[in-house]
Amino acid sequence: MQNYDLLIERIAKAANLEKSEIEERVEAKKAKLSGLISREGAAQIIAAELGINFENQDLKISEMIPGMRRVNVIGKIINLFPVREFEKNGNKGKVVNLILADDTGNIRLVLWDMNHIELIENETIKQGDVVEIKNGSTREGEIHLSGFGELKKSDKVMEDVQTAPSVSEVTLEEARQGQSVRIRGVVVQIFQPRFYSVCPECNKKVIKEGEVSKCAEHGVVTHKDKGILNFVLDDGTETMRVVMFSDQINILIPEGDLKDEGKATAFRDDFIGTEIYLSGNVKRNQLFNNLEIVASDVEKGKVEELIQSLNE
Ligand SMILES: [Zn+2]
Repeated sequence: MQNYDLLIERIAKAANLEKSEIEERVEAKKAKLSGLISREGAAQIIAAELGINFENQDLKISEMIPGMRRVNVIGKIINLFPVREFEKNGNKGKVVNLILADDTGNIRLVLWDMNHIELIENETIKQGDVVEIKNGSTREGEIHLSGFGELKKSDKVMEDVQTAPSVSEVTLEEARQGQSVRIRGVVVQIFQPRFYSVCPECNKKVIKEGEVSKCAEHGVVTHKDKGILNFVLDDGTETMRVVMFSDQINILIPEGDLKDEGKATAFRDDFIGTEIYLSGNVKRNQLFNNLEIVASDVEKGKVEELIQSLNE
């Protein structure tokens, strides 16, 4: 079930109202705010208006939406990243990221508290363990746990957890940082493709010294060129910039062809205005401070399907 449906169900249950009633209120709220907020955001406002909050509730991972406080969840650690150290205002700190999964989805959990991090460092809590989180707060695609939160090992057995990234079928206007999304839209602008040189062995960027390309690990190498293609997708609710690397570009055109001006122009003329299904991750571009999609897969839309859906 989708994130949104679960949320509506939970609000309806807590308010003792019909699901359809909640849905109507959400739509009305969205319309009143001129569509400036997502369905999930509108649902949260409705929940607040009905005096419902999600504090101290045991939630499923797919029910978590940004901005929740003091929520509880149980999940299995399916990925544990190394402890990172950082320095801020002269103080040293540590942070640990891990991926927590249950039967509805998975989410990144960020630990900031030294006592929690110690449980990871001394392997009291390991990858594969089921853990119980209390007092977490949610951000876009993440749960954060501070010193006010609780982290402990759970006796609960979780066999079937969602290990694949949860893909949200959302509109661009609803897309949030950290989400894996699948979006259908039209290519409205294409930028000049760019190329960079990498080592053929390790795929890392090479340093050019005159005519010679050097890899930090493999020494002098015959570099190969990798492409980057940026374009803008419009799904009718919003436009968003998309970044495509070699593997995805090659789905559409052999990337080397983009170096040939004639072939590149023909490709652009053909690709612009095309309807596509795009899968990817929503990331924040640090330079422009806006959201963009890093493509993982692309599929050209079928005109018949489009016509059929327009007729529905
Ligand atoms: Zn190399």
